[in-house]
Amino acid sequence: MSPWSKEIWRLIWLTGLALIVGFISGYTLVCLLIVSVGYITWHFNNIKRLEKWLNKPGKTNPPQGSGIWAEIFDRTYHLQKQNRSRKKKLAKYITRFRESTAAMPDATVVLNRYDQIEWINKAAQKALGLQPAKDIGQHLSNLIRHPGFIRYITRKDYSSPVELPSPANEQQTLSIRIIPYGQDQRLLIARDVTRLKQLEQMRRDFISNISHELRTPLTVIHGYLESMQDETDESLRDWQENIKMMRRQSSRMQHIVNDLLMLSRLENEETKQTAREQIAVPNLLHMIMDEASALGAEKQQSITLECDDELNIFGVQNELYSCFSNLVFNAVRYTPTGGSVTIRWFHDQNGAHFEVQDTGIGIPPQHIPRLTERFFRVDVGRSRDIGGTGLGLAIVKHILERHNARLNITSKVNHGSTFRCSFPAENIIQQAPKAVTKA
Ligand code: ADP
Repeated sequence: MSPWSKEIWRLIWLTGLALIVGFISGYTLVCLLIVSVGYITWHFNNIKRLEKWLNKPGKTNPPQGSGIWAEIFDRTYHLQKQNRSRKKKLAKYITRFRESTAAMPDATVVLNRYDQIEWINKAAQKALGLQPAKDIGQHLSNLIRHPGFIRYITRKDYSSPVELPSPANEQQTLSIRIIPYGQDQRLLIARDVTRLKQLEQMRRDFISNISHELRTPLTVIHGYLESMQDETDESLRDWQENIKMMRRQSSRMQHIVNDLLMLSRLENEETKQTAREQIAVPNLLHMIMDEASALGAEKQQSITLECDDELNIFGVQNELYSCFSNLVFNAVRYTPTGGSVTIRWFHDQNGAHFEVQDTGIGIPPQHIPRLTERFFRVDVGRSRDIGGTGLGLAIVKHILERHNARLNITSKVNHGSTFRCSFPAENIIQQAPKAVTKA
């Protein structure tokens, strides 16, 4: 029988007894009243015992009860036990999480939905200069004031990390990443990438230095070879073929060195140079078009320019010249005799677009994602034969990044390729800029 049925039977039994005694004694109402008061008092007494037991600190056995109260005491006791073991488990998890994150060499900060600090580990105190005693509860952007970080945190795009000097030590570079988790919680992880940055800088410096060092000897060698080729001396006649080959190779090396120097300059100039220089792109394109026509003249290619003459953008002139000419000259070089190259400059609601479409050899789809890697060539032999360095598209990529622009490549083998550079709408200028002189 369930405790409730038992309790109801107990009540029926008590009422029955009160009615019988009342009937015999002639005081039915009084008997009923006495039984009711007794029953209520019993319940009150049990409630009081329950309340007293619940308020007792620590683990104690439940009071003894009868009827429904035995069941209530027992269930409450079990619930308490369950709760206690759940609490213990949770506390263990939290301690383990704190111990592991505290031991992590990376700075870790737990943030709430308002980007206020909830918890920090030891590494965060050192790397970010945070102090638990006074910084917990503070808005993170009040403590890390670097503009790059403020942009990162307000944009809420946490797909890639942001790099900045440590607020506690200017010499240290941190790579900071925010990882959303749980219900609107965030975890900030900061890694020390100083060594990596130094190595990267060393690599850049090495390439830049070696290119500088090679430039002068190469110019001298090239100059001598040139004069040896022009020489009418009898003794050099048999060497003419070799000298021609040496001249070709030294000129190729000069191109590589110049491209490497350009790349390291682009890499080393930290600031994005979408700087407010107004560029008359149509003039630039007419100039490139003339040079491309001269380059493609032998191959009888048709080169056309479809250009919005009113469309100008903010940018860096020599960089844009280098970017556009690289793409146009590639189109000419990788398009066989009789093919065509179309250069377009136009705008739509997404911004301004420079496009070069050719009917050349095309690029197999698996190579397209790798084209902007340094020294990547689809066909090394062919690239060398036509005087390529394998650095042109890497330069294009860097220049476009500095102009907040994107490169899009579509191609079909034996049908041709289209290279499109898309500049954001905010780069477009309405009024006519100053005339352009050759870069
Ligand atoms: P390269 O100096 O070898 O031309 P780039 O970086 O300019 O170096 O180009 C990388 C590679 O991309 C080239 O070697 C070539 O295989 C391929 N490529 C570039 N432009 C075109 C094009 N218009 N048509 C076909 N292949 C191209």
